[in-house]
Amino acid sequence: METVSDNSATTTPTKASNPQETGHTAEEQRTDWHTNLPFLGVHAGCLIVLWTGISPFAACIGLTTLLIRMFGLTGGYHRYFCHRSYKTTRAFQFVLATVGAAAAQKGPLWWAGHHRHHHRHSDTPSDVHPPGVKGFYWAHFGWVICPDNVRTRTELVPDLSRFPELRWLDRHHYTAPVCLALGLFGLGAWLESNAPHLETSGWELLAVGFFLSTTLLYHITFAVNSIGHTIGRQRYKTQDASRNGLLLALITAGEGWHNNHHRYPASARQGFYWWEIDATHYVIVMLAWIGVVWNVRTPPLEVLNEGQQ
Ligand SMILES: [Zn+2]
Ligand SMILES: [Zn+2]
Repeated sequence: METVSDNSATTTPTKASNPQETGHTAEEQRTDWHTNLPFLGVHAGCLIVLWTGISPFAACIGLTTLLIRMFGLTGGYHRYFCHRSYKTTRAFQFVLATVGAAAAQKGPLWWAGHHRHHHRHSDTPSDVHPPGVKGFYWAHFGWVICPDNVRTRTELVPDLSRFPELRWLDRHHYTAPVCLALGLFGLGAWLESNAPHLETSGWELLAVGFFLSTTLLYHITFAVNSIGHTIGRQRYKTQDASRNGLLLALITAGEGWHNNHHRYPASARQGFYWWEIDATHYVIVMLAWIGVVWNVRTPPLEVLNEGQQ
């Protein structure tokens, strides 16, 4: 069984000042609506529900596609690919990358490269999405549709780009979401003929299971960058504006303990104490129980003690 090696260097952010590495400045904030038509189209696709309505079955499918792909992002893209906070097999690594890619937030290398850049430059003008410097809208949404951020920051993900299957998934990042959308449409059309009591259709499952679910997931993810650096409590005096917030943690499956996370990014657990609900960590623990993942990192005692001072 091939295992994937750890790279602790990626989990220890340092403030860099190299302009080569810092990306665009506040004066260079630009949006490119044209090249982001698929991204905008997913939002527009939500309007189909005005025509189809939302049956209980479609609502269940929408919730399922939301939660599974949310774990692909929080447990996969973020805690595994960006921070290497646990280990797994190469096969399950690919599963995590594929489930994350199905959320239509580009490929794992693109996502991890930008996020590692964020940890290096958090809340400075060089940060990709600092709400205190570039505004709430930019931190939430604007940076995603800025042409400067289209490229994958391959220089920040050498440990990930050595896997050809991850490079393929990054280059063809539309594949997983398109397959999901087509699969949901096909399932709904089949059920409309074969299980009419479910009162669903291809268009309804496409609208609810893909467009609505994907759009909600966009804004749940983006809220960590905008709200997670604006509203909440700072337990740790980190060199950034990261915040902890219970409501954000509930909505984002644990990512709302963002100040904890900036204090110790290498931890697979972002809710540092038992009362800090962290659904993503609970799933990682269950995967560890069945042996799919291992070496799950937790915050060291001195970090926990520091947080209670
Ligand atoms: Zn952050
Ligand atoms: Zn992070």
